[in-house]
Amino acid sequence: MSPETLLGELEWIPARRIPNLRKLGLRTLGDLVQHFPRRHEDRRSFTPFPDSPGDHPILICGLVVKAGHLPYGGWRRGYEATIEEAGGGALARRISCRWFNMPYVGKMIATGMRMVAYGRLKTRGKKLYLDFPEFEMIEDEGDALIHLHRIVPVHAGGEGLTARRLREWIFQALHATDLAQIPSLLPGAGQNPDRATALRAIHFPESFDALETARKLLVVEEFFAMQSLIVSRRAHVAALPGKSKVGRDLMARLHAALPFPLTGAQTRAIEQIRADMASERRMNRLLQGDVGSGKTLVALSASLIAIEAGFQAAVMAPTQLLAEQHYQTFTRLLAPLGIRVALRTGSRRADESLELWTGEGAPQLLVGTHALLYEPDELQNPGLIVIDEQHKFGVLQRARLITRADGPDVLVMTATPIPRTLAQTAYGDLDVTLIDEMPPNRGRIITGIRDTKKLPEAAAFLRKQMDAGRQAYIVYPLVEESEKLEAKAASVEFEKWRELLAPHRCGLLHGRMKPDEKDAAMRAFVNGNTKALIATTVIEVGIDVPNASVLLIENAERFGLAQLHQLRGRIGRGAHTSYCILMPGEDTPEARDKLGVLEQMTDGFAVAEADLKLRGPGDMLGTAQTGLPPLRLGDLFRDGALIQQARDQAAAIFEKDSSLARPEHAALRAWLGKQDVGALSG
Ligand code: ADP
Ligand code: MG
Repeated sequence: MSPETLLGELEWIPARRIPNLRKLGLRTLGDLVQHFPRRHEDRRSFTPFPDSPGDHPILICGLVVKAGHLPYGGWRRGYEATIEEAGGGALARRISCRWFNMPYVGKMIATGMRMVAYGRLKTRGKKLYLDFPEFEMIEDEGDALIHLHRIVPVHAGGEGLTARRLREWIFQALHATDLAQIPSLLPGAGQNPDRATALRAIHFPESFDALETARKLLVVEEFFAMQSLIVSRRAHVAALPGKSKVGRDLMARLHAALPFPLTGAQTRAIEQIRADMASERRMNRLLQGDVGSGKTLVALSASLIAIEAGFQAAVMAPTQLLAEQHYQTFTRLLAPLGIRVALRTGSRRADESLELWTGEGAPQLLVGTHALLYEPDELQNPGLIVIDEQHKFGVLQRARLITRADGPDVLVMTATPIPRTLAQTAYGDLDVTLIDEMPPNRGRIITGIRDTKKLPEAAAFLRKQMDAGRQAYIVYPLVEESEKLEAKAASVEFEKWRELLAPHRCGLLHGRMKPDEKDAAMRAFVNGNTKALIATTVIEVGIDVPNASVLLIENAERFGLAQLHQLRGRIGRGAHTSYCILMPGEDTPEARDKLGVLEQMTDGFAVAEADLKLRGPGDMLGTAQTGLPPLRLGDLFRDGALIQQARDQAAAIFEKDSSLARPEHAALRAWLGKQDVGALSG
């Protein structure tokens, strides 16, 4: 049968399950055979029941000897089934399985039935049990073919769709479907006999080796789609005409006036950018450097090249606070050069005179929030657009920028270090410059985890630092609730710290404050009028107050590692030794692991790698961040070699047939048309 056959036309799928299947996105036979399993169970032979818990989930099969509702559990209503190992006689081991608040479980289980259970073994006293195991009842005779004596797939199900049921249907579907007809973006995939084999083996493999072979083949295909998208985006951008900009006088004057020399890494970055800007090609470059590595100066230097060549430059920040700070810095540094700098943020718009924006007196450097992008009139003659902290900025927005008709060069900056294999994918359409060196004479940052009970000691430490002239940030996490509650939480925190830190003056900063209040609070801290800033994560990105040397984070476990690293980047910006105090609200092993990473590591790349290990790449490469389709089989972290293979295949195709005009590339062209152009010209 054709893979296009609708599931509703098959008599072996009950009509009332069709809506459930649709909810999983399964409409056709082809969809069903490409609904890949989320794991496999080795049911070729079952291992003996273990007698102690271990690190990994276990798979057991046995006879249900006792089953019924638990006398406790309250509203959660518990159900327990005890299964006994086969052939053990009087000494047979027993393991209990328990479920809470899952009323249908009791309807499926009865004593005397055979059951397969999968879960993590625990002990309570002498008793061994599995909490909430995945399970399946066995009906010996009929099951032998599909559900037993083999490596069995477990597919993600849903309402009305047990793993068992899906397994049966997919088994049927694999036999019914002409697998060679399943479309693929990879040219020639259908003709490859190994592919049909792989589609079967990914569900019902004969061995784990066969499963791995199948997975590799299908993963490369999946990555091929993704890498084609990246290669085509890159080609698209490379073909965009740009304007050559040359000029180094302004930049040289800025550098000469600085109280410190540029680092080698900054100089190299500026040189790369200068070459890009001088070429007729449109620049599309990522500047990656850890927090505090001095990216702002690089951005400013690039802006001066554009300005000297007679263009406007724009620097966009993710928050108003950061935009204001850049504005202060830029005005201070550029006033001696006679450059007109203007600030544009949502709230600062009305109070500026409009004449300023056109003709003679137009600003040469425009600083604003990302919202500037949506104000087409603001930039009359943009030569360069810089996006600071690009991780807060979606790829679609970035694509919109690079394809602007007036063709400015684009420089995006991020402190989020992404391991190399991932960077190729996340930023595959960009040229990358790395700042791999910190400015000299930076104080050390010492990080420590302290129990909340130690709050008075910590406060005493903060006071001592402030006595010595230093300043401190105190970050508390926001429980996202109503505006009112948020404001209340903020004032409670503020009062608490004001008492703890008296007589030193404290300031308060949170997202719900009015822009000019935020501005005032920030300014008071920068000027040293307030010694401590009680803040939410609004200070997460970019804020630069070198005199601040202590950061205390309450309920630190609620933040992600990357975010904590960013927050910690607020200190250690001056010559003083700095201190980061992490106070977990809840002391769990997970919290310890996570915070322990920061205690041991200060380097952003190391933290990012650890973050990946703890969380997987999912969050790091969200669809919003990359504009790439989600992966079903591939693993960006583990499958680096396969990604490279797919990338080579994609590049080869574009090299042979850059417009994808050949018939064998039609499917790829159509698919890219839906993805890529949508993103790029949106
Ligand atoms: P980030 O890369 O996190 O954006 P910034 O650009 O805010 O870092 O720079 C952090 C601090 O380092 C600022 O106070 C800046 O003035 C200072 N700085 C930048 N470059 C140098 C340098 N070459 N030598 C000494 N200090 C520098
Ligand atoms: Mg910055």
